[in-house]
Amino acid sequence: MYFIEVILPLSLAKTFTYRVSEAEFHFIKKGMRVVVPFGKSKMYTALVLDIHQNEPNLYEAKEIDQILDERPIATEIQIKHWLWIANYYMCSIGDVYRGAFPSGLLLESETVISNKPETIVNDSELSDDEFLVYEALHHQSSLKVQDIISILNKKNIFPVLQKMIAKDIIVLEEEIKETYKPKLIRYVKLHSKYESDNGLAALLEELKSANKQKEIVLAFFQLKASEKKPITVKKLTEFSNVSPAIVKALVEKEIFEEYFLQHDRVSFSGEKTEKELQLSSAQEKAFLEIKDCFSTKEVCLLHGVTSSGKTEIYIKLIEEYLVTGRQVLYLLPEIALTTQLVSRLRLHFGDKVAVFHSKYSNNERVEAWKQTLENSPKAQIIIGARSALFLPFSDLGLLIVDEEHEQTFKQTDPAPRYHARDAAIVLANFHKAQVLLGSATPSLETYYNAQAGKYGLVELSERYNNVRMPEVVLVDLKDKHFRKRMTGHFSDLLIEEIAEALSLGEQVILFQNRRGYSPIIECLTCGHVPHCQQCDVSLTFHKNKNQLRCHYCGYSIAKPTNCHSCSSIDLTTKGFGTEQIEQELGSIFPNAKTARMDQDTTRGKFGFEKIIDTFKNREVDILVGTQMLAKGLDFDNVSLVGIMNADNMLHHPDFRAFERSYQMMTQVAGRAGRSEKQGKVVIQTYNPNHNTIQQVTNHNYTGMYKEQLYDRQIYKYPPYFRIIKLTLKHRDYEKLKEGSMWLYQVLNQNLGMPVLGPEEPAISRIRNEYIRSILIKIPHDKHLGNTKKTIQKMLNSFEAVAQYRAIKVITNVDFY
Ligand code: ADP
Ligand code: ZN
Ligand code: ZN
Repeated sequence: MYFIEVILPLSLAKTFTYRVSEAEFHFIKKGMRVVVPFGKSKMYTALVLDIHQNEPNLYEAKEIDQILDERPIATEIQIKHWLWIANYYMCSIGDVYRGAFPSGLLLESETVISNKPETIVNDSELSDDEFLVYEALHHQSSLKVQDIISILNKKNIFPVLQKMIAKDIIVLEEEIKETYKPKLIRYVKLHSKYESDNGLAALLEELKSANKQKEIVLAFFQLKASEKKPITVKKLTEFSNVSPAIVKALVEKEIFEEYFLQHDRVSFSGEKTEKELQLSSAQEKAFLEIKDCFSTKEVCLLHGVTSSGKTEIYIKLIEEYLVTGRQVLYLLPEIALTTQLVSRLRLHFGDKVAVFHSKYSNNERVEAWKQTLENSPKAQIIIGARSALFLPFSDLGLLIVDEEHEQTFKQTDPAPRYHARDAAIVLANFHKAQVLLGSATPSLETYYNAQAGKYGLVELSERYNNVRMPEVVLVDLKDKHFRKRMTGHFSDLLIEEIAEALSLGEQVILFQNRRGYSPIIECLTCGHVPHCQQCDVSLTFHKNKNQLRCHYCGYSIAKPTNCHSCSSIDLTTKGFGTEQIEQELGSIFPNAKTARMDQDTTRGKFGFEKIIDTFKNREVDILVGTQMLAKGLDFDNVSLVGIMNADNMLHHPDFRAFERSYQMMTQVAGRAGRSEKQGKVVIQTYNPNHNTIQQVTNHNYTGMYKEQLYDRQIYKYPPYFRIIKLTLKHRDYEKLKEGSMWLYQVLNQNLGMPVLGPEEPAISRIRNEYIRSILIKIPHDKHLGNTKKTIQKMLNSFEAVAQYRAIKVITNVDFY
């Protein structure tokens, strides 16, 4: 008898045994997909983990339905890595499998299919089955896989659908189709016929009698001499103070030639694509140190201040690995950053760069998957957010984790709750590859590992092009309020600085880590504050939509005109978000163009890119935003950054609050003064003497590191202790309270290490579920694997208690 062991894309910890024929037994290999029946009537795409002859003794093995692949589409290393993730992060292998595969490769009976109207289909090229599906989708816009099974009257329809997906005839439902063409900018240059030596004389002769035109041509030469950059029509008309019509006339006269570029491509120093990248001597030194470090260590941390040119060092390093034919994975904290980076990398590596991210369509993701598997030259460099880690690399040589300190590398929901940086290091180990971690503000954990000699450490402490670090100025809000020097949320100093930057044609970034107009609306008569019905939070006021909205569940109501409790009409707002800042800007600087970048303005596939583009193109003078601004963006004309209020970050109830505040402020500050002139940063705060604020002001990473490390040791937190957080949820407050106490006591009695809780978190109810959390702190001298086994046992017994079974428990290892 012949069997295979498979993983199902379900949250099940076990693998399952299915029966195969002898012929199938010899054909099937690990890493191929098979379609299997499961439960009463469900079909799933399962992945083969093993092929064996051991009959299961607990159940009778069912037969498989269909083999989907001719060759494995997952690699052995990949599967080994998934098993590691499941084990380390205490989740089921099914969760990892489901999270790893693009859904286009994971059809199941519930999947919803619809047709793709843009594709022109030639009936004669369809098989009978394909035609039936195609027809059916004309009568009904979408169908479930189950429906199609009954339409075709057969079970194994996955191959049919797979072919139709490949032919671009159908798509899976969750895909949103949106396309975005980066805006092209109009440039002018001198017509080529005037490029020769005596061309200039001929030109001036030609313009003898056209004064306005001569003026603009002379302005053009002036600009060219001072800027050494391509010249936009906009710039030229502003500089020479003549109308665009005259430029147009000159183009018609064939004196100027116009051309269009995507802005990203030129903003990269404005040099030609073919030109070899020249590292500065500090960069070169760091580059050599990294290579040296890799001769003895697998992981190296590049600690380079903001705008030190880390990206260029990565590029140099990638060049070296490409020669060996091995693959390179470049992980970014945020998919929204890929556009900027991809254009920078394509300048050097052309079509060797592939992008993989969750907002891409299924076809695009499936294609990247296949290219990676085949080690195609088109996917030698893969850029992506954390999920790119799950691609089927055949021979990975180098992994780069840029902005390694970013919290977004840790997945919170759903499982697997993995940390991409740490999982990358494990993956590299399986591939015998190297890992470069880069950051201006490394996480405490990483810097600690580097200090301990576990990772190599390379420091780069100057900015590229000898630009000085931005000057940080603190504004004491208490004093400013006392002396009535505030206009709304702007201090007089910040207003002055903005005015100056604007007058010089420079751009400004304002940071406020809260979206909406204000987080609280309060009744002045009775003090009532509207709260969400389902969550334990106040509703945020969004003025544009005149709504109160819950940021946890999406619940919203129209803004009340009077208090729901006492009917008074005296309502006031407390606290402020980006929307309010943008509005205040409108009255303080009525002539400045402003834009806002936060979750409300960046929805949709390219929402983020659109805002970045307009800002880069200098169509916007002041950009207001949340922490999205802190993520490694490179703008060359920003001279001023304002942090509207540093305090709410500092007061977050979290052991990482000071570390995060330091990182966030330093990163936002790092957007200032990146190209030539020293930038300025204004931080408004009620706590100018706070250690963390002082450390930001003095660019003192080491000071922050030492202080925080000391606290972590005293209070038993990472990197000294590993943390597992258990979150318990239930609709019944009393039951949850009782159950979490039960679990806490069992853990506390059996683990022999600090167990904290069960705590009611600051937001103790979301979507009508009450929440309690338990924190387990595992010292380094305890065996991690065994501790997890014990915890798992306790969790299993918790589940076995009938009255607690309905309580959800979420396990988060290395909670961030
Ligand atoms: P970081 O990632 O360290 O913050 P970047 O890599 O974004 O810094 O570099 C900052 C700016 O300096 C970018 O605009 C980049 O194009 C430019 N730059 C850095 N190194 C070089 C170099 N060797 N040649 C030309 N431009 C460079
Ligand atoms: Zn009231
Ligand atoms: Zn809510």
